[in-house]
Amino acid sequence: MEILRTIESYRELYVDLQGPIGLVPTLGGVHEGHLSLVDEAKKDCKTIVSWLFLNPKQFGPNEDLNSYPAEEKEDISLLDQRGVDILLIPKTIDIYPSDFDTVVKLGKITELLEGSRRPGHFDGVTTIVSKMFNIIQPDRAYFGEKDAQQLRVIQKMVKDLNFPVEIISCPTVRDNDGLALSSRNKYLSIVERNDALSLYQGLHNAKASFESGERNADIVRNVVIQEIKKSPLITIDYVSLSDPLSLVEISGKITPPALLSLAVHIGKTHLIDNVLLE
Ligand code: AMP
Repeated sequence: MEILRTIESYRELYVDLQGPIGLVPTLGGVHEGHLSLVDEAKKDCKTIVSWLFLNPKQFGPNEDLNSYPAEEKEDISLLDQRGVDILLIPKTIDIYPSDFDTVVKLGKITELLEGSRRPGHFDGVTTIVSKMFNIIQPDRAYFGEKDAQQLRVIQKMVKDLNFPVEIISCPTVRDNDGLALSSRNKYLSIVERNDALSLYQGLHNAKASFESGERNADIVRNVVIQEIKKSPLITIDYVSLSDPLSLVEISGKITPPALLSLAVHIGKTHLIDNVLLE
């Protein structure tokens, strides 16, 4: 694996790269969820480029930028072992020089769910993803369904702004007990991790109730809420049942497909998860 630290060095290599080029971006704290994106990219791309950058602009002032559990050496080794060809680790000063003054901002879709709790978060995401697409110029870019809203926001940006890149969505990778893999799981104590199992349990129960015919949105949302409430360490930020594209909340009767998603705090740790009801 070639490790690059400047945009110029990537540009020099880029002219000779064999396409299709598949891009797998991460903030760091690499785990099997990220590596599953590499596996997907390898299925249909000749060159796999990964991007490792802890983007400060997508973290709010009271969020965990400074403690984010990313270990560069370990991340490099995991990406290398999984078959990434080129890893770009840009420097913050090159990405955001002192005169940087542009924001890529989408509309309503970024104000809902995570956006309502983390003002400016998606502006940070769409700005860095735009820069990353312009720098890497991939044919395909791989994103996880675990971050369902982020995926929809990026798909919408690509469509609205005609980025010449295909967005490939990849299923959520979970531990054997159902907990969705996340870099932030490293923050959890043993007791907190045990409580966190109620997230998937709640989503799973709600999906089962939907599959056995329940179509009332409030009842389905409530199945999740009741399950999570059994866990004393968890504060619910939201449990949402929304249209999977617009992310507008469903009231009354569910007409599938619908996105059942949630965000919670366990102590200081922010976790999200979701399932699709089809
Ligand atoms: P992050 O480093 O958290 O920004 O994640 C980088 C990419 O990995 C994003 O597209 C995430 O959606 C994806 N990802 C994170 N966790 C998982 C998971 N458990 N399963 C699948 N993809 C994931």
